[in-house]
Amino acid sequence: MYQNGHLATGFGINSVGKIPLGLKRKGLRIVVTGGAGFVGSHLVDRLISRGDSVIVVDNFFTGRKENVVHHFGNPRFELIRHDVVEPLLLEVDQIYHLACPASPTNVVGTLNMLGLAKRVGARFLLTSTSEVYGDPLQHPQVETYWGNVNPIGVRSCYDEGKRTAETLTMDYHRGAGVEVRIARIFNTYGPRMCIDDGRVVSNFVAQALRKEPLTVYGDGKQTRSFQYVSDLVEGLMRLMEGEHVGPFNLGNPGEFTMLELAQVVQETIDPNAKIEFRPNTEDDPHKRKPDITRAKDLLGWEPKVPLRKGLPMMVSDFRQRIFGDHKQDVA
Ligand code: NAD
Ligand code: UDP
Ligand code: UDP
Repeated sequence: MYQNGHLATGFGINSVGKIPLGLKRKGLRIVVTGGAGFVGSHLVDRLISRGDSVIVVDNFFTGRKENVVHHFGNPRFELIRHDVVEPLLLEVDQIYHLACPASPTNVVGTLNMLGLAKRVGARFLLTSTSEVYGDPLQHPQVETYWGNVNPIGVRSCYDEGKRTAETLTMDYHRGAGVEVRIARIFNTYGPRMCIDDGRVVSNFVAQALRKEPLTVYGDGKQTRSFQYVSDLVEGLMRLMEGEHVGPFNLGNPGEFTMLELAQVVQETIDPNAKIEFRPNTEDDPHKRKPDITRAKDLLGWEPKVPLRKGLPMMVSDFRQRIFGDHKQDVA
């Protein structure tokens, strides 16, 4: 059916990879797996507005049609409901591979998308994660650090899955000559983030809006570095278009303890929001902060949106989704 429905684009596979962002050029045909998700849908917005044709492949495991519905009817946009664990035949120039549940299926999905990239000569970008560093013994984390992951821990399915995905990506690069790019993404937040998936920023924002206490796990002194989604998307596109394989850390070096984050959320939404301490999860990394020297030097990229600027933009989206349009202006 749809697998065989896409004919060669005639755009010249990989022929435009060297054109810097911003220059006029023919549109590419680009697959975004996981394009109905949080990060993917923002990436799709940028690619469509740049003039490219985008095929979103998503099984709606965590993604939502609402995230991409504004592109329905656009002839340069296509949405395929498909699980990347199953093989997929398409003709494309670039593959942004974001689809990923927190389980080993991300390995099979990555293998299939690498097989697709090899067959059609597309450039392949893997969205890996800062979790490959585990509970890091080096701070901040540099790309050359091999990480400290507990292979049998409660979080390891995701971490080891992404580590294997990186390995496969490099094997296809070395063994089959596939053009690949690897991004190691640090904690990212922004509009369209899942409201109830348990991440700390979405939890705190939803809790403050609903007048519930902010749940701080452990003593709240563990740190994370929070990146606004538009900064990430810019980094992913620069990486895809640039000449370097990576891996590249893409994250905002601004580091916050969870208690500091709770305080920023209080300042932004409700100064009277209460804090409630809960036991922390096992193997929770104590600190995390990207060293982004490599991305600065080789991609000319660095984040522009600090937490105190980005959070209000996420809050208005959450307010709208939690309460509906009519309450949008209510503080
Ligand atoms: P998300 O859950 O919003 O998006 C993932 C999308 O992939 C969803 O739309 C989901 O339906 C889809 N999907 C999952 N399994 C699939 C499958 N088998 N076949 C097809 N589609 C499938 O998550 P996100 O935050 O947008 O993350 C995007 C990518 O970035 C992921 O690879 C994630 O591991 C990586 N990442 C995100 C962060 C972050 O802080 N958001 C940090 C590090 C890495
Ligand atoms: N694959 C895919 N789409 C393609 C080409 C390959 O989904 O256009 C899948 C294929 O089904 C296989 C995986 O990618 O499971 C790896 O493909 P590759 O050709 O590298 O390996 P092989 O099939 O030779 O083991
Ligand atoms: N966390 C918290 N309260 C919550 C959810 C998470 O204090 O309601 C903590 C969690 O223990 C971790 C940090 O926030 O130390 C970041 O968690 P998240 O799941 O957002 O990201 P990750 O651990 O994957 O970096």
